Amino acid sequence: MSDLVDELRAALGEGCVFTGEVVRDRNGPGMPPCPAAALLKPDSTAAVARTLALCNAAGRAVVTEGGRTGLVGGTRTADGDILLSLERMQRIERIDPRARTMTVQAGATLQTVQEAAEAEGLLMALDLGARGSATIGGNIATNAGGNQVIRYGMMREQVLGLEVVLADGTVLSTLNGVLKNNTGYDLKQLFIGSEGTLGVVTRAVLRLRPLMPARNTALVASRSLTQVIALLSFIERELGGRMNAFEVMWNSFYRIACRGPHLGAPPIADVHPFYVLIESTGSEPAAEAEQFLAALGRASEQGLVDEAVLAQNERERAAFWAIRDNIAGMIELLPVAIFDISVPVTAMESYLERTGEQLRSLLGELRWVVFGHLGDSNLHVAVRIGREEPALRHQVEDIVYGGLAAVGGSVSAEHGIGLDKRDFLHYSRSEPEIALMRTLKRALDPRNILNPGKIFSS
Ligand SMILES: Cc1cc2nc3c(=O)[nH]c(=O)nc-3n(C[C@H](O)[C@H](O)[C@H](O)COP(=O)(O)OP(=O)(O)OC[C@H]3O[C@@H](n4cnc5c(N)ncnc54)[C@H](O)[C@@H]3O)c2cc1C
Repeated sequence: MSDLVDELRAALGEGCVFTGEVVRDRNGPGMPPCPAAALLKPDSTAAVARTLALCNAAGRAVVTEGGRTGLVGGTRTADGDILLSLERMQRIERIDPRARTMTVQAGATLQTVQEAAEAEGLLMALDLGARGSATIGGNIATNAGGNQVIRYGMMREQVLGLEVVLADGTVLSTLNGVLKNNTGYDLKQLFIGSEGTLGVVTRAVLRLRPLMPARNTALVASRSLTQVIALLSFIERELGGRMNAFEVMWNSFYRIACRGPHLGAPPIADVHPFYVLIESTGSEPAAEAEQFLAALGRASEQGLVDEAVLAQNERERAAFWAIRDNIAGMIELLPVAIFDISVPVTAMESYLERTGEQLRSLLGELRWVVFGHLGDSNLHVAVRIGREEPALRHQVEDIVYGGLAAVGGSVSAEHGIGLDKRDFLHYSRSEPEIALMRTLKRALDPRNILNPGKIFSS
């Protein structure tokens, strides 16, 4: 075991290879010690390539980590694994304002990339709560979603080109910078969403969009899911595709999320069944505000909205989003099982009703909260399981995931599969699909060194 670590030290230099306490403490205070044999922090693509070539020759598992904000156990290590961190590869190499592209190393945080784009009057369209720590490499490896998918798509839509190091150390450079490129297989797509199992992303060319100076945000209340779904179509049409977010909070979530020392009085009393955070952006502030207000007014006339408040300034806007982002409030549900699922909007009501009944009969009493990116058919569900028993947790998961296939849903909307959802992949993927995933894995990583056991068992 130490032979490989010695070889890595010789190849990368002393300062890039860590062992002992630094590795054991990697999971943070209060967490089980990290069992990896070494933590590597290479500072270049060439160093990543040398690392993988050596690990592949030794047949040693490599777990790549970005900002470690992933929510499905994708960076969990086993005894003797090599942990590969990209934290020394954070450089923004080039922004081309005319082509609206950015070339960046994979360890850069999403927030750094967003800020660098904004400084050029451009927008990095991916946004999510963990932006300060999550990295571009992690966003690509998980095909992250977030708050603006309804308008700009998931991370896949923000990537034009990739540089990836394959398991044997080969550097595959597809640093394409154009939107259209139909020259055979689009190889970068293989790696987007592959959760570190097919290659290590080292650099990317990102697609940037024009930064819209005018932003309008409203919090509205509605009385039924049917009304909320009708509101989604109505507002999308009224705003001509300029809606960035349509975030829905069931009353169960809103009531908890409005509490918190950092939050003031709720903008709307917590008496309505549903709350929707709607945001749009555009180029001309006065016209945008007028159109946004008019759209909400018409929605209200049509009975799609029961109460509405508009953010008058950035502070109020941040306050609305703070409610939506206040997942810490869910602490009162502990021990809790948290889900990130997709359900077609037309099936949401019946799916939740049926799932609720099954959970109630399992748990006796049901306490759960529901919220999510409804415009993307993405629900987050948190279920209080009452007592921390693995078998009970598994039964709860089985109920929530088990009903999804019948309605055309998915066991993972945006967080990926990692280790935590591996047992449930078959609810969303057929046997031939999983078999093809295994074939691809074997072709690209024949010695099974890259994040082995994640997504599916090897
Ligand atoms: C508060 C909070 C809010 C969140 N909100 C959202 C949200 O709205 N939408 C959403 O989609 N996710 C969300 N997430 C989940 C998480 O932020 C995303 O999955 C994110 O993309 C992970 O990035 P990371 O750099 O932290 O990756 P990590 O957690 O470090 O790794 C995630 C996976 O990617 C692999 N990986 C990381 N870097 C590379 C690389 N360079 N090459 C190859 N593989 C790599 C890892 O092996 C692992 O399998 C949230 C998380 C938190 C904590």
